Amino acid sequence: MGVWESGSKQVACPFCDSSETEMIALFGQQMMTSQYYCRNCRSVFEAVKWDDPKAKVESEKPKDG
Ligand SMILES: [Zn+2]
Repeated sequence: MGVWESGSKQVACPFCDSSETEMIALFGQQMMTSQYYCRNCRSVFEAVKWDDPKAKVESEKPKDG
């Protein structure tokens, strides 16, 4: 598994599937989306953020000891 930089997430362009994208706006038309710019095909698109810590499901670990 790769290690991601905190707060930085690479998204693939839905048009050309390139990863040469950069976030241009923290929020898109909806709170749960961010606006990205594709440097490959020079398109602007929105991607859903999956950065909500509340969405994380904590796995239950059995207590040892
Ligand atoms: Zn693209």
